[in-house]
Amino acid sequence: MGLFSRNKPKIKVQTTKKDGYSGWVKCTHCHEMIHANELQQNLHCCPKCNYHYRLSATQRIETLADKDTFVEKFTEFKAADPLNFTDTEAYKERVTKAQASSGRDEAALVGVCKINGVETAVGILDFSFMAGSMGSVVGERLTKVIEFAISEKLPLVIVSSSGGARMQESIFSLMQMAKTSAALAKLHEAKLPYISILTNPTSGGVTASFASLGDVIIAEPNALICFAGPRVVEQVIKQKLPPGAQKSEFLLEKGLIDCIVNRFELKDKVSVFLKFFTGNERSFAEVDASSFPKLSAKLQKLIQLKEPAIWAKS
Ligand SMILES: [Zn+2]
Repeated sequence: MGLFSRNKPKIKVQTTKKDGYSGWVKCTHCHEMIHANELQQNLHCCPKCNYHYRLSATQRIETLADKDTFVEKFTEFKAADPLNFTDTEAYKERVTKAQASSGRDEAALVGVCKINGVETAVGILDFSFMAGSMGSVVGERLTKVIEFAISEKLPLVIVSSSGGARMQESIFSLMQMAKTSAALAKLHEAKLPYISILTNPTSGGVTASFASLGDVIIAEPNALICFAGPRVVEQVIKQKLPPGAQKSEFLLEKGLIDCIVNRFELKDKVSVFLKFFTGNERSFAEVDASSFPKLSAKLQKLIQLKEPAIWAKS
């Protein structure tokens, strides 16, 4: 048979990629090659440099809550467009697109769960939904879950990751700062603990309201935590910021946050704080003022402990 009379070419065209590199990704922080499976098993932290990648609200619940204990609440509040707002795109369309790409109906997921056996009211912001921005639905859901914590006498944990207030809702989004802060003041009056967890990035109106009002403020390593971002600050002051400015480690040194906790230890450490606060039967009002330094020293000790063994489940 002649070469040109063959019906089918003998050379196979490989349509599927079999080069052994599928599933490998380059760490955006240390540029090492890491496998997606390894990243997933490592709670989305780089196994080489410990860079903490963002988690969706669902993944966050999986890492924090005891298995199958989370019950979502206040889903009846849906995104609205009170100002009929359009910039380069109609706000309604942006929301629809965000819902399709994130699989969530809004940027806040709230409810109740158990954290190492402690029943806790939780609120999680999802950065994949319009950069976790706080619109009226986010503010309302968080406020409702804070009020729920008060009525059920539960401790509260909120995990923030947000670009700040949602500008498409203008004053309606800014009002959420006051509303969530007022609800937290009531939680404080009810002597219920609130643990705020700041993840990369937490900024704008979220930093300037409920995220900074925790009785204990925990941050994940290397998280950007700020009001205005570094680029904006540099443009305004026309100076370069010092390296690491507005990152967790810098803010711990300056006293804005209480401790930095690796994602692997986060659940156990949060539950240590929850047990410390909720296990104290005497209310703070009944504690003799002279014992406050002692209480504070104990809390300080809890915050500063770094030995993983100490955080083992009791
Ligand atoms: Zn890395």
